[in-house]
Amino acid sequence: ALPEAEFIWMDGSLVPWAEAKVHVLTHGLHYGTGVFEGTRAYATADGPALFRLDDHLDRLFRSARIVGMELPHTRDEIREATLDVVRANGLGSCYVRTLAYLGYGEMGIDVGRSPVRMSIAAWEWGSYLGGGADEGARLMTSSWRRNDPAVVPTAAKATGPYLNSVLAKAEARQAGFDEAVLLSPDGYVSECSGENIFVVRDGAVLTPPSSAGALEGITQDTVLRLAADLGFPARRENLLRSDLYAADEVFMCGTAAEVVPVRSVDRREVFSSNLVTGKIRSAFRSVVDGTDDAYRHWLTHVR
Ligand code: PMP
Repeated sequence: ALPEAEFIWMDGSLVPWAEAKVHVLTHGLHYGTGVFEGTRAYATADGPALFRLDDHLDRLFRSARIVGMELPHTRDEIREATLDVVRANGLGSCYVRTLAYLGYGEMGIDVGRSPVRMSIAAWEWGSYLGGGADEGARLMTSSWRRNDPAVVPTAAKATGPYLNSVLAKAEARQAGFDEAVLLSPDGYVSECSGENIFVVRDGAVLTPPSSAGALEGITQDTVLRLAADLGFPARRENLLRSDLYAADEVFMCGTAAEVVPVRSVDRREVFSSNLVTGKIRSAFRSVVDGTDDAYRHWLTHVR
């Protein structure tokens, strides 16, 4: 289904959904000059609440700094606008897409005088990896390597580099898999097309470091903390393709996808048990829905 709601925040004001348009000579359309964020709001007993909004804002500003883009709004303005968009659309649980990009100005690689434009859209977005994800997703090791941090800054959540993810995802879908896992140019496990990846082995919960080209995921950070709370050693560590095959459990996580168990990698079953993944999933659920008191500070209520 097409995403839809009533209003989108564009460059400082709310405009009707259908009128949130750009010129075809928008720099970011031609050269992928943009940075973005995906944040989720969850329905809680006290109304909708954005999960780790401040961490998403931090990363947005970090991404902009890395690519050398000066955002035209203050952090407070963007924060307020995010709350406005959820409120104005009357949304309960939803996904929020924040984008900053070079607009219509000069053409050519030189960023020159192209203005930086911003938008914030929110809509209801259910299970990102589809209904079957609860039974475990089927992963394929992509023939595409993850972006090399020496070629493009993988620490920035920037639009252009997502072509790498798009190619990997398309290849996996065409081959009948649910999702792609990409290896770094050095052959270490990096991440999936839009999720971080975790391996559970002998009770330890492991995920690749950002040096393997993986985004520093906010859900990844959440999972590392919740796993530690549950008593599992949890850390970032370089993983090999063979670590996926030999794992007791594999799962993915991201804002859109949340925490999703993996059934198989390259048609090899890795679903011996779902014990640790299941515990982390339910811990995650009670954090985002506000029933876990210890992490209330991660929720920003929309009122
Ligand atoms: N890796 C990639 C490539 C992503 O697109 C995402 C989604 N933002 C993630 C990891 C997960 O990051 P987060 O948990 O912050 O959404």
